[in-house]
Amino acid sequence: MKQGPPLKLDPRACDRCGACETACPHGALKVGRTYLKVDWQRCDGCGACARVCGRRAIVLRDGGRRVTGAAAQPAHAKPVPRRSTETPRSRSAAAAAPKVKPVRPVLEPKGGKRGGFQWTLLEAAAMLSVTFSAFTAKETAALLPVFEAMPDDLEIPLRIGMLALYYGVQIVVLVWLVRRRGGDPASALGLRIPGASVRHALTSAGLVVAALVVTRLLASLYAYATRAMGLMPSAPTDLTTLFGANTSGLVLAILMVVVVGPVVEEAVFRGALLEGLTARFGVWPAIVAQALLFAAFHRSLWSLLPMFVLGAALGWLAHSREGLWPPIAVHALYNAITVAAAFLVAGI
Ligand code: SF4
Ligand code: SF4
Repeated sequence: MKQGPPLKLDPRACDRCGACETACPHGALKVGRTYLKVDWQRCDGCGACARVCGRRAIVLRDGGRRVTGAAAQPAHAKPVPRRSTETPRSRSAAAAAPKVKPVRPVLEPKGGKRGGFQWTLLEAAAMLSVTFSAFTAKETAALLPVFEAMPDDLEIPLRIGMLALYYGVQIVVLVWLVRRRGGDPASALGLRIPGASVRHALTSAGLVVAALVVTRLLASLYAYATRAMGLMPSAPTDLTTLFGANTSGLVLAILMVVVVGPVVEEAVFRGALLEGLTARFGVWPAIVAQALLFAAFHRSLWSLLPMFVLGAALGWLAHSREGLWPPIAVHALYNAITVAAAFLVAGI
């Protein structure tokens, strides 16, 4: 009986996220800017691509049932030569053997997006739990009465040490999660951009400026409106209290808030979380979900809206530029404005 291809493709529904390409264990799928194609001679109909596609751009034929072996072989594929050692007996034994569900691949041999590393939803959730737990531990420790009684010259270094520990824990866990599956942390987090052209870099720079202007403008309008309505908290967190209202405080604030903070937060939210969510739910649900979690992470009811807008812009930027450097740049510049404002007001 004539057997058609095991997959039905709908390139119009595809948003080029690349999750299917990464998930294919045989390198049978290629996703380009204008195409979505399958090498039917490699494809065995395992359905891994259809399972990760959140947009139903790839659907497994036969009502979603797994098609394997001979049933997956399309009519137009070249026949596979029979091995000389194969006997009728061994063939019937193989047919009677239970079908083993293929393990979902985690590394694509030929690299590709994120060096072929696909974050799973479980890993993304685990990373997020580590970040929230470390943040809660840091904030709880800072409320201990011992800090109140401590002189400034001891309290500030201790607070900065806790902040460094908080970031350090997250970096260690991120690297460990990637390394345990043999991945390259820089690639898996989108920090390596192979073959980026000058045009790509210029477009990214333009989008960074646009995203920064839009998010900062919206945050300023929001602050102005909430202040006018008397909704703004009277004493927002002051960076000069945390780092010290002097030049060394400013240097430390730049190091922690403008350099280390954005890199680590982007690695967690747009590096691991966005990728894990995208593979499971598709691009736009993932961008919205990670932006909501990013806003909740800042634990301020007042800043929920601007943080959500910032998180969504950073998520979209990470997805569209296929790397983490553009969102890191926006995040760093966004924080730099906050640091500059805090220290200018303090007269530093
Ligand atoms: S997973 Fe779906 S949406 Fe993403 S590239 Fe593949 S076909 Fe397109
Ligand atoms: S069905 Fe399996 S082998 Fe075929 S393209 Fe999809 S993931 Fe690759």
